[in-house]
Amino acid sequence: MAVNALGDYDDTNVFARILRGEIPCRKVYEDESVLAFHDINPQAPVHVLVIPKQPYVSMADFLESASAEQIAGFWRGVGAVARLLNLAPGGFRLLSNAGRDAHQEVPHMHVHLFAGRELGAMLVA
Ligand code: 5GP
Repeated sequence: MAVNALGDYDDTNVFARILRGEIPCRKVYEDESVLAFHDINPQAPVHVLVIPKQPYVSMADFLESASAEQIAGFWRGVGAVARLLNLAPGGFRLLSNAGRDAHQEVPHMHVHLFAGRELGAMLVA
């Protein structure tokens, strides 16, 4: 079920459990701000999820409530993942679903990072 982009944070969500080490992930990168890991149901040859370590429900919540330091740390983490995987030469796509209309399923803010093939149109009608 899609989540409310600005609802209360539910610390039983699957990404909170991954952050606490309660369930495994295929980790790609970690620093003080972010954890990045492979999506369990990849939609492209490279499909990595980047999540902040702080408890934000969605991108909307993050951009409203995170500190400038947290926001900078998050995007620097995304950049570190793209460099680590050498994605700039072929290109990549970042996507963040926030709330109902975007079909956000996991209520912990995350960015999808797609790469590894021609990615086609940005939105499917
Ligand atoms: P959303 O629709 O919320 O933007 O995307 C959530 C993503 O999380 C989906 O692409 C889904 O495949 C992924 N996902 C859901 N549960 C797990 C999990 O337990 N582990 C990993 N690695 N990815 C998950």
